[in-house]
Amino acid sequence: EAAINRIAAGEVVERPASAVKELVENALDAGAGQIDVAFADGGKTLIRVTDDGCGIAGPDLPVALSRHATSKIDGSDLLAISTFGFRGEALPSLAAVGRLTVTSRARGGDGACLHVAGGQMAEVRPAALTRGTVVELRDLFYATPARLKFLRTDRAEAQAIADVVRRLAMACPAVGFGLRDVTGGGDGRTILRVEAEAGDAHAALKARLAAILGRDFAQDALPIEAERDGLALAGFAALPTYSRGSATQQHVFVNGRPVRDRLLTGALRAAYHDTLPRDRHPAAALFVECDPHRVDQNVHPAKTEVRFREPAAVRALIVSALRQVLADAGH
Ligand code: ADP
Ligand code: MG
Repeated sequence: EAAINRIAAGEVVERPASAVKELVENALDAGAGQIDVAFADGGKTLIRVTDDGCGIAGPDLPVALSRHATSKIDGSDLLAISTFGFRGEALPSLAAVGRLTVTSRARGGDGACLHVAGGQMAEVRPAALTRGTVVELRDLFYATPARLKFLRTDRAEAQAIADVVRRLAMACPAVGFGLRDVTGGGDGRTILRVEAEAGDAHAALKARLAAILGRDFAQDALPIEAERDGLALAGFAALPTYSRGSATQQHVFVNGRPVRDRLLTGALRAAYHDTLPRDRHPAAALFVECDPHRVDQNVHPAKTEVRFREPAAVRALIVSALRQVLADAGH
């Protein structure tokens, strides 16, 4: 059982940033309004995610930490996954690769805490907590030095963590996010702090993009809104004059989940083809919404690729919508 967990864990947890992604997605699934992430030493010694979501009742903690114990899917419709998580593997995987402590309090219940390390689950103990959940992962890969060796520098891993949190924050403007590097103890250094955006979805998204991608991006970015054949596209695309020397300001989301996908970034490039030189990259935050049955977002548990049923239709929608707004803006 412990060996199986470790193998499965390797699929889900490649590096500190993948652990952060799973934990923040769980907090979002739990309906959190505020999510705070802290890490030390590039996430290698500590990752802590605190949320104010629905919490886990004490007696349910051992269940939540067991494999495939998810409550988020009933098996009848594996494809129609509307929540972020669905595999029921993240917490047990994290418990298999590090020292995991979950402290939580469900509404109307008492706070409780459970620690797992080296495949050994401790007893559920009472804990003081007003609400929500705190998941603490210490010493990632401590039992598998070979894996630890493959991690990059603390700086690079911290960067990857920040990228993950920024992307999730872009996808969820109504949720407040905090990210702190607490290496060496103490309050640490704030890397990101965004307040929950109120107001209608469009205004909230614009405000969140301004907070994450910068006022320069948000100020002149062209709003995108298009729909065709059950595919919807929304978001903001920068004017060609705001283009960058790298593709780091291209953010694409499918059904609310951040993805990295060649088809989508290729479509973005094609849309700007006539307005940008080859060495310049357009900046954009695009949100594709479609029937979950028309996209497989689970090609690999730790990866963020997607596979569309009709890739050509997705590409055509992005290219035509972006070309249209660029043309309307005189480009
Ligand atoms: P999944 O998210 O795929 O269901 P996980 O292993 O990530 O599987 O989590 C297992 C279960 O633990 C979840 O289904 C949920 O019930 C519970 N859980 C995990 N994290 C949280 C959280 N932050 N708040 C509330 N419940 C949580
Ligand atoms: Mg999950």
